[in-house]
Amino acid sequence: MSKAAAEAKQPVNAYGWAARDSSGVLSPFNFSRRHEIVGQVTSIGHNVTKFRVGDIAGVGCIIGSCGPCDNCKQDLENYCPKMLWTFNGHHEDGTRAFGGYSDNMVVEERYAILIPNGFALAGTAPLLCAGITAYSPLKYFGLSKLDRHLGVAEFGGVGHMAVKFAKAFGAKVTVISSSPSKKKEAVERLGADSFLVSHNQEQLEVIIKY
Ligand SMILES: [Zn+2]
Ligand SMILES: [Zn+2]
Repeated sequence: MSKAAAEAKQPVNAYGWAARDSSGVLSPFNFSRRHEIVGQVTSIGHNVTKFRVGDIAGVGCIIGSCGPCDNCKQDLENYCPKMLWTFNGHHEDGTRAFGGYSDNMVVEERYAILIPNGFALAGTAPLLCAGITAYSPLKYFGLSKLDRHLGVAEFGGVGHMAVKFAKAFGAKVTVISSSPSKKKEAVERLGADSFLVSHNQEQLEVIIKY
């Protein structure tokens, strides 16, 4: 598929958080990984069928690959020798991809996800990295069953998502964190069933016995 045929251009409203720079502070200027992106489709290529102009698209960390190689055919596009990163990848014409802080970006249709109308963009963007990072193993390892009791170790971006998905699946969730201050958010806001402080030996021993 030619680049023109596959392209869907987006967005003005782009959200690209998913990494921290060396200062530990999220910054649009100092780090290069921006791959949790949602935005509005502003134009589409001739063969695009999944999107219309005006739709909301989500993009993760890959925006292109060759298509016909064995890896691509087996849904292992991340091993494709021509895989194109959302950030710092180079399109065929040499144009560099700047990820989620671009005003506009070009992505193959295959790597764009149609976001339903009415989703809050800022709240949807984290699904494209932290979200899928938590969701994929929950499904792959069969942990999305109602009778499971999951432990979520550490409560950052991916941990938040793990709690939200696991609760949505109906599982019981215990958050294990080194920061006692996160208990309120884990339990009261996201509905975790219990919270353990990872350096509290007594608490951990209880759970080990259990
Ligand atoms: Zn990420
Ligand atoms: Zn390939």
